[in-house]
Amino acid sequence: MMIISHKFVVNIPDNLSERTIYISIKYGTAVHKCCCGCGEEVVTPFSKTDWQLIFDGESISLFPSIGNWNFNCKSHYWIKNNCIEWAPQWSRDEIEKGRIDDFLIKNKYYNSKKLKDRKHFSLLKKIKLFLNKKYKIN
Ligand SMILES: [Zn+2]
Repeated sequence: MMIISHKFVVNIPDNLSERTIYISIKYGTAVHKCCCGCGEEVVTPFSKTDWQLIFDGESISLFPSIGNWNFNCKSHYWIKNNCIEWAPQWSRDEIEKGRIDDFLIKNKYYNSKKLKDRKHFSLLKKIKLFLNKKYKIN
C-alpha cells in the first residue's frame, strides 16, 4: 500500500517532495505531487464544495477523491488515513458528468448562501428602521 506523509505548513514550499501532502490551514489548501509519479502538482482547496480535510491527530484524509482529469495521467485516488487508495479511472463521459455535478453543487451552494446573506441584510435593515422609529436616531 502506498503511504503519503503530511506536513502542516503556513506557506506551501516551492519544491514539493514526492509522497508528501503539504497542508496550509492559513490558506485553506493542500498541495501534493500527483501520486502516480507524473510530477504534476495537485492543489486541493478546502471548502464546503471542494475538499474536506480530516485530521485525527495522527493521519489525514481528504474527501472526496482526487481526480486528476486535467493531467495526462488522469489518475484517480483517495487519500485515507495517509494511505493512497486507487480508484477506478473515469471515462470521458463520467468526467464530463462529474464536472457538471460539481458546477451544479457549487451553484446551489453559492445561491443559497447569497439568499441567506440577503435575508440577513433585510433583517438588519428592519431592526435599524425599528430603532430609528423608536429612538428617532438616524
Ligand atoms: Zn499523475
